[in-house]
Amino acid sequence: MNGVHNATDVDNATDVDNVTDVDKVTNVTEVRLRKEHIRLINDELTLHAPNEACGVFIGRQGRDSIIVETVLPIKNSRPSDRSFELDPKEHYEAWNRADDEEMEIVGVYHTHPHSKATPSAWDKESMENYQTLWVIAGIDGIKGYVWDCSVKRIEIVEIN
Ligand SMILES: [Zn+2]
Repeated sequence: MNGVHNATDVDNATDVDNVTDVDKVTNVTEVRLRKEHIRLINDELTLHAPNEACGVFIGRQGRDSIIVETVLPIKNSRPSDRSFELDPKEHYEAWNRADDEEMEIVGVYHTHPHSKATPSAWDKESMENYQTLWVIAGIDGIKGYVWDCSVKRIEIVEIN
């Protein structure tokens, strides 16, 4: 499990309700990521260039915010510089891990080593089909999105 960051401090998350209805992701306006999470995603961008890297977030979803506890890199099973595919086996293992930790998979991330952190046409189609938090790390930084009839940008709040 190289590169996996475990988070043990959940005190900051106690004011967040657990919501299991995935449709509620449309209400989300911000995602809270730790500095180390952002560093890990940026490291993944560099490490896998020119191909895209991908992974999932384990955490909790509240009424209007998502708190990420763990950033879990997942093998890109179809390496490309234009798209990605979460390795099904590793994705499944991530679901089990989230379940064991009484959390959820609250989103996915991927990297754009050659372009901005803006959803591509392929991303938009995928976002519509898999409605969750989408974080993209590109040459202009890291940005968060959800699909709410169209692409909606949400704020990334960096916490310590
Ligand atoms: Zn993309």
